[in-house]
Amino acid sequence: MNEISGILTHAEETGANVPVPEVEKPDNEKADPYGLDFSLAARAMKILVINCGSSSLKYSLFDTSCPKPLFEGLIDKIGSGQSTHKMADRQGKWEKECTVEDVGKAFHTMETALTDSGRGAIKVFSEIKAVGHRVVHGGDRFSSASVITPEVKRAIREFSSLAPLHNPYNLAGIEEMERILPETVSVAVFDTAFHQTMPEYAYKYAIPSALTENSHIRRYGFHGTNHNFVALMASTFINRPVDQLSIITCHLGNGASICAIEHGLSIDTSMGFTPLEGLAMGTRCGDIDPGIVLYLLRSGIKAGDLDRLLNKESGLIGLSGISNDMREIIESADAGMARAKNALTIFCYRARKYIGAYSAILGRVDILVFTGGIGENSGEIRARICQGLDVFGITLDGGKNREAKVKRGHIVDISSRQSSSRVLVVAADEERMIARETIHAMRTVSV
Ligand code: ADP
Repeated sequence: MNEISGILTHAEETGANVPVPEVEKPDNEKADPYGLDFSLAARAMKILVINCGSSSLKYSLFDTSCPKPLFEGLIDKIGSGQSTHKMADRQGKWEKECTVEDVGKAFHTMETALTDSGRGAIKVFSEIKAVGHRVVHGGDRFSSASVITPEVKRAIREFSSLAPLHNPYNLAGIEEMERILPETVSVAVFDTAFHQTMPEYAYKYAIPSALTENSHIRRYGFHGTNHNFVALMASTFINRPVDQLSIITCHLGNGASICAIEHGLSIDTSMGFTPLEGLAMGTRCGDIDPGIVLYLLRSGIKAGDLDRLLNKESGLIGLSGISNDMREIIESADAGMARAKNALTIFCYRARKYIGAYSAILGRVDILVFTGGIGENSGEIRARICQGLDVFGITLDGGKNREAKVKRGHIVDISSRQSSSRVLVVAADEERMIARETIHAMRTVSV
């Protein structure tokens, strides 16, 4: 789940290397009922958002007087001997080769960049008044972001068994920041938290109940921070309270999931106990018959190899044999390659099937949202997914869909006039939502 997308700056979005003026928002977007523009922050302050993975550190510095980050960075390939540090501010982006042996060194590198007298964004690190950490798994314990205490850290450690490739590194990042800024409040923002509102009949698998009760085997769902963010952005955009809406959000990136949201609450989502379930993804298989796993195990495959097969060698790359990158799949399909065409068809079919299922459980769909690298950028995929969804009142405007371009913080309406659902393309912005959740969590304690 630690899919670090490239840093995208406002300068990059416009292709310019000059200060970018604030883009005027449409009137109905001006109000900020859900604090997505940080209007609920009691005072302007600097918030650092951290996403610490096994070999990367992604960070964004916000000043809550503006929802656009002041400074962003991605330190990649930590420990490889050949790290890269990509940085961006509101003026542009730049990159440095560096040697970053471990997580501690990565945090030091980040601190140096942020406080650099030339291009840094702050004079001293103590200007940062809060830190929001992305934490992948909050188990069944956290239904919202939480100010980090020793008890919260214990829980994150405990849930490492559910997310061994993420929680330990998220926790390492929390501890590094505590070392650097011991007095500063820090908040854990869980990828699973938004889905904790799922009813039991949606989160329970039909396996012996003891496995759910004692071993915590149940649906958790992921991408929750962005599903929540785009739902709130969409309801702000159409100027209707989220608690009166039924929304389906399609987060289609290298990892992909769909969420059914009723009255602002997640009531079902396609990822499950792990991010493997649901849609066909870049390298993950999505839904398969668990009998296949048993069959392969009986055929002698080792657990580690099976893990790799289902997580890294399946999905678009497994089906096409070409790539996990949707752009390459589309290109190859256009060039006539049968397996690429087949991968495209399966990806879109699976997404359409989930939208149909979620339309049924919601009863009506007020908004259908597309987000994530594929959802935001591919009109072709959106059109293919929406084929035949007119029966649910979901109809695209072909021209608007083809031309839709979203920048961070922006929304494009691609629905046709006849569509009873608004179909919206909303740019993902997990970092901004983590900063917003950090402000929210801080309001629950006196800091
Ligand atoms: P991650 O899950 O790693 O955060 P992203 O949300 O960045 O992934 O999405 C990455 C995916 O988006 C890749 O499959 C990439 O090919 C796809 N993508 C990006 N731009 C386009 C485009 N113009 N058309 C189709 N797919 C695109």
